[in-house]
Amino acid sequence: MSDYILAKQNGRTIPLEDKIFGISSRAKAMIAEKGADKVINATIGSLLDDEGKLVVLSSVVDTMKTLNPVDFADYAPIGGTPQFREAVKKAAFGSFQPSCFTEAVATPGGTGAIRNTISNYSRMGDKILTSDWHWAPYNTIAGELGRCIDTYPMFDENGMFHVNAFGEKVRELIAEQKSLVIILNTPAHNPTGYSLTLEDWSGVLNVLRGEAGKAESIVLLVDAAYIDFAGDEEEYRRFLPELEKLPENILPIIAYSLSKTYTLYGTRCGAMICMAQTAEVAAEFRRVCEFSSRGSWSNSAKLAQVILSKIYADEKLLKKVNEERAEYREMLIQRGRAFEEEARKAGLEIVPFDAGFFASIPCDNPDEISRKLEKEGLFIVPLAKGLRVSVASVSEAACRKIPAMVKKAMAE
Ligand code: PLP
Repeated sequence: MSDYILAKQNGRTIPLEDKIFGISSRAKAMIAEKGADKVINATIGSLLDDEGKLVVLSSVVDTMKTLNPVDFADYAPIGGTPQFREAVKKAAFGSFQPSCFTEAVATPGGTGAIRNTISNYSRMGDKILTSDWHWAPYNTIAGELGRCIDTYPMFDENGMFHVNAFGEKVRELIAEQKSLVIILNTPAHNPTGYSLTLEDWSGVLNVLRGEAGKAESIVLLVDAAYIDFAGDEEEYRRFLPELEKLPENILPIIAYSLSKTYTLYGTRCGAMICMAQTAEVAAEFRRVCEFSSRGSWSNSAKLAQVILSKIYADEKLLKKVNEERAEYREMLIQRGRAFEEEARKAGLEIVPFDAGFFASIPCDNPDEISRKLEKEGLFIVPLAKGLRVSVASVSEAACRKIPAMVKKAMAE
């Protein structure tokens, strides 16, 4: 029997249940039955404190409390309020001041930026390129738009970013399609926690420069959803100036999200910011992206746009928000280090990790291992190539326990 009654499949694979949601509900059921101390739920993609409560920056909440009704009840312009457009560029670029042509368009989270990039810079039926380890919704977004995801192996046999495999795939797809959208999720990649080094970046950009003459357009979407949780904000933005030194038909777009950085996940706010070599390409970017917004979610919610604008209009407040985030970031980094250290001690191989919300373990039978672990009270997410552990959602003590439990389940 078909999985569809009245709905049309349109080339998409639509599961009966969202996988992570299903695992998370089983974790909740076990907590209700056996108690929270018997369960480690490392599936959740938000930063939780050691007691399992959502981390919310109080400085951001205090700012929200100063708002007037029109700040959230009113529509924002389709592309975002003028103050937000300026503030979000500063948030994304940090102290770097680009000399290229930049335009920011508000989107509902980083997700909206990914959607609008694919819809405007690829054609129906195109392949969108990303690494084999990647955030699963890329497939959903591409599928919804009549495109699909193609991949290259993210790491070589020495655990280094596989720039040769990347280059091979870029060349293949440009020969096939003439234009290409590439998604690079860095720093603190989901699901591996890897951050491209400056050397990796130089390899990636050399590949693109080499292909520019053969391509109509190459769009490099930098999905920077975790940029403010990787480590020092300035250090992790050092790749940005490199993105300016590219030919005119290569367009870098930054997908910036307020979800994690300002703990405003539910307000659905983000932006897509282009770094164009010409004013014409930047103006076109704004025109086509605003058009797509109109035809999908219309305008983005105003609330978080006003919050960010207020934060960036007040130096003291900005400092306070950054300091508050830095404390939680330190907690997250400690958890990641604890996980890595225990994996080393347990002899558990993990995918090259730098920082962020997640770490991954390569595994040939992830579904089987995760089912076994659920019986032991450990809930993690099976992916195509391994297991994803959310270090963002469990305490450091739990991060120390997980590697040995996984190693044991894999050895049985
Ligand atoms: N990109 C990656 C890799 C993510 O993990 C997420 C959120 O989990 C996003 C983008 C976008 O999130 P949002 O739409 O909430 O900004």
